[in-house]
Amino acid sequence: MSNNRILVTRSSMPPLDEYISEIAPLWDSHWLTNMGEKHKQLEATLKEFLGVDNVALYVNGHSALEGVIESMRLGKDGRRKVITTPFTFASTTHAIVRKGLEPVFADIKPDDYTIDPASIERLIDESTCAIVPVHVYGNLCDTDAIQELADKHNLKVIYDAAHAFGVKRDGVSAATFGDASMFSFHATKVFNTIEGGAVCFKDSELKDVLNQWKNFGITGPESVEYVGGNAKMNEFCAAMGICNLRHLDDEILKRKKISEHYWELLGSIPGIKICIPPDNIKHNYAYLPVVFEDSFGATRDDVFDALAKESIGARKYFYPLVSDYECYRGRFESGDTPVAKYVASRVLTLPLYADLSFDDIEKIYEIVLGQSQ
Ligand SMILES: *Cc1c(COP(=O)(O)O)cnc(C)c1O
Repeated sequence: MSNNRILVTRSSMPPLDEYISEIAPLWDSHWLTNMGEKHKQLEATLKEFLGVDNVALYVNGHSALEGVIESMRLGKDGRRKVITTPFTFASTTHAIVRKGLEPVFADIKPDDYTIDPASIERLIDESTCAIVPVHVYGNLCDTDAIQELADKHNLKVIYDAAHAFGVKRDGVSAATFGDASMFSFHATKVFNTIEGGAVCFKDSELKDVLNQWKNFGITGPESVEYVGGNAKMNEFCAAMGICNLRHLDDEILKRKKISEHYWELLGSIPGIKICIPPDNIKHNYAYLPVVFEDSFGATRDDVFDALAKESIGARKYFYPLVSDYECYRGRFESGDTPVAKYVASRVLTLPLYADLSFDDIEKIYEIVLGQSQ
């Protein structure tokens, strides 16, 4: 490449020939969307890959999250509060708010940045209907503790698993927890369909409802039962998914090697906190989050600026907290979630993609190290 910028991420793409042979049949069928062959094939492959009975594909992860919220009729029994985390991407909270529900923010755990069950428990009251936790950076939430709370208080659990594609704990797929899990197949995720997403869900009766909501609420040739939207995945995106899935193991292995090299280097710098998955986790190495503690000697923003000066793109992910967004001004107090506030002001995700070179990792390490002194 002519320039030596290092971006924070780089989309994975299959060999061009492979994609072309995958889409070639579309020139015969002229069937481009609305549950075509590629759509069916990707759905079936994903069921197997994710170890679940039910998968519904979507045009993107955000629509999948809105789709499952509306299909479950959350809020319709008068309970409108949904407990979630402010340490996430805009999508999680926006989906809750756009479906007429009220987000309530629990704090996160300082070790893996996932939602803290003890904090959830303190917030549950008679108007709580659901919990929407996030497997942040692919780190799995405390799913047992969350399920226990949900069972005790009759709450639905919908995981935002946008970061957790391919992750397993003790051999159990991340897609199997709670009532449903949303995955994002956005271009920047470990597995992409260009844009895309899916919901995996337990209750097979939801299948038709989900598919109807994403197709204008049409339930039959002459009947429209819901005020649904349009959130269907098209055949070209499904074909991209079919191809990318064939290369996923290789992709994750490359990311693992890159992550381990980063950890080996960064782990020796005082004041830097890295997040190494426990042994019973098969991780997907989706992100490389680093927290700069006060003892590091420079701030997260100093490191961000030093990297930017060398044309290296790191990301303040997640910063600001959702509860500090302009669009939610006056509605929340980020001081109520002190751990989330602490992490958001100190975290940086470093460049990570399958073909990032060890030389680049070492260059990044040197710049970070330089800031600590
Ligand atoms: C990417 C992402 C989403 C949204 O997914 P899209 O496919 O971009 O709509 C939701 N939540 C989290 C945590 C994400 O990272």
